[in-house]
Amino acid sequence: MNIHEYQGKQVLKGFGAPVAEGVAITSVDQAEAAARQLPGPLYVVKSQIHAGGRGKGKFKELGPDAKGGVRLARTIEEVVAHAKEMLGNTLVTAQTGDAGKQVNRLYIEDGADIARELYCSLLVDRSVGRVAFVVSTEGGMDIEAVAHDTPEKIHTIAIDPEAGVTPADIELLNAAYELSGEAAEDGKTLFPILYKAFVETDMSLLEVNPLIVMTNGRLRVLDAKVSFDGNALFRHEDIKALRDETEEDAKEIEASEWDLAYVALDGNIGCMVNGAGLAMATMDIIKLYGKEPANFCDVGGGASKEKVAAAFKIITADPAVQGILVNIFGGIMKCDVIAEGVVAAVKEVGLKVPLVVRLEGTNVELGKKILNESGLAITAADDLDDAAQKIVAAVG
Ligand code: GDP
Ligand code: MG
Repeated sequence: MNIHEYQGKQVLKGFGAPVAEGVAITSVDQAEAAARQLPGPLYVVKSQIHAGGRGKGKFKELGPDAKGGVRLARTIEEVVAHAKEMLGNTLVTAQTGDAGKQVNRLYIEDGADIARELYCSLLVDRSVGRVAFVVSTEGGMDIEAVAHDTPEKIHTIAIDPEAGVTPADIELLNAAYELSGEAAEDGKTLFPILYKAFVETDMSLLEVNPLIVMTNGRLRVLDAKVSFDGNALFRHEDIKALRDETEEDAKEIEASEWDLAYVALDGNIGCMVNGAGLAMATMDIIKLYGKEPANFCDVGGGASKEKVAAAFKIITADPAVQGILVNIFGGIMKCDVIAEGVVAAVKEVGLKVPLVVRLEGTNVELGKKILNESGLAITAADDLDDAAQKIVAAVG
């Protein structure tokens, strides 16, 4: 689960990290009052969307010469003017895709005078089975480009879970950042705070880009991109409450309510499958025959007829879907339940696109009988290969 920058900073502040004062707003009328709460004279107006690269992003409605999604302002009037231009418009960044994201919320922040911009992230480093700091002196910019062009400028420091962030780790981090004086002193408290926040809230990613050294020599978290491990949310009611569903794909939300794994993609063949491996194989083979999946919905094992029907409806609700491939290997899942779910869903919402069904495994004969007797225009397939060819041919 992803959250907004202003929420991420709130979480980090709770652990004692240095962040600027700020106020989140959702309408232009709130801009002036928000700015008046801050000391000035420098303000930052920041688009709150679940995507990075906002500073370099462009608003669709404003043309190429307009300023981006993170703007500095020197007066309260300027803050208000920026808010007017930004709120409600669509910001396109390197991470949003061409469609961009509507900016429904701004964070008005007390501006900092920046001496240096550093890069700091924490993630789960699977190769060593530990949480690791990934750090670089090259902050504020596209870290992928730094990794590509100057990989020697990126350092990974893995933390022993039993010891936590040790004085030796802090020394390594301060050295990697070339910090001294007050900034190095701040590092001594900040790095353990970031680690503690990561572990205690079950984050899967914490990216502070940039972490800044201010002209007064102190460290500050200037940007925060936080993702939490969805499987651990059950033990963090407070964090669950930070979810902003307007930032998520509506169909993915509906799927999660049914406990279905649904992933939206860019092609035009909808896929209903059971099991992640079969989902991958199904998508691969669709691509092999020259088409792209529009999505996949994994109904898992042991789904009910109602759940299968919900999955089918979610898939058909996507206007990009020009054909559907149901590919089920019945193990725990029974083929007759799949067939009943599909028939129930089609009866309710109709079937406007070709449907190819490949069933195999438990109760397959009964499943096929239900589909045959349903009177629906369903193309039966014998195996994965046959199924992919048939749906690709049907979509044309
Ligand atoms: P991103 O573009 O989505 O990564 O948004 P950031 O929060 O990282 O902001 C982008 C850039 O705006 C930063 O790298 C800074 O250069 C600049 N910026 C953000 N906040 C401030 C601030 O308080 N003072 C100054 N001088 N620049 C800032
Ligand atoms: Mg940033």
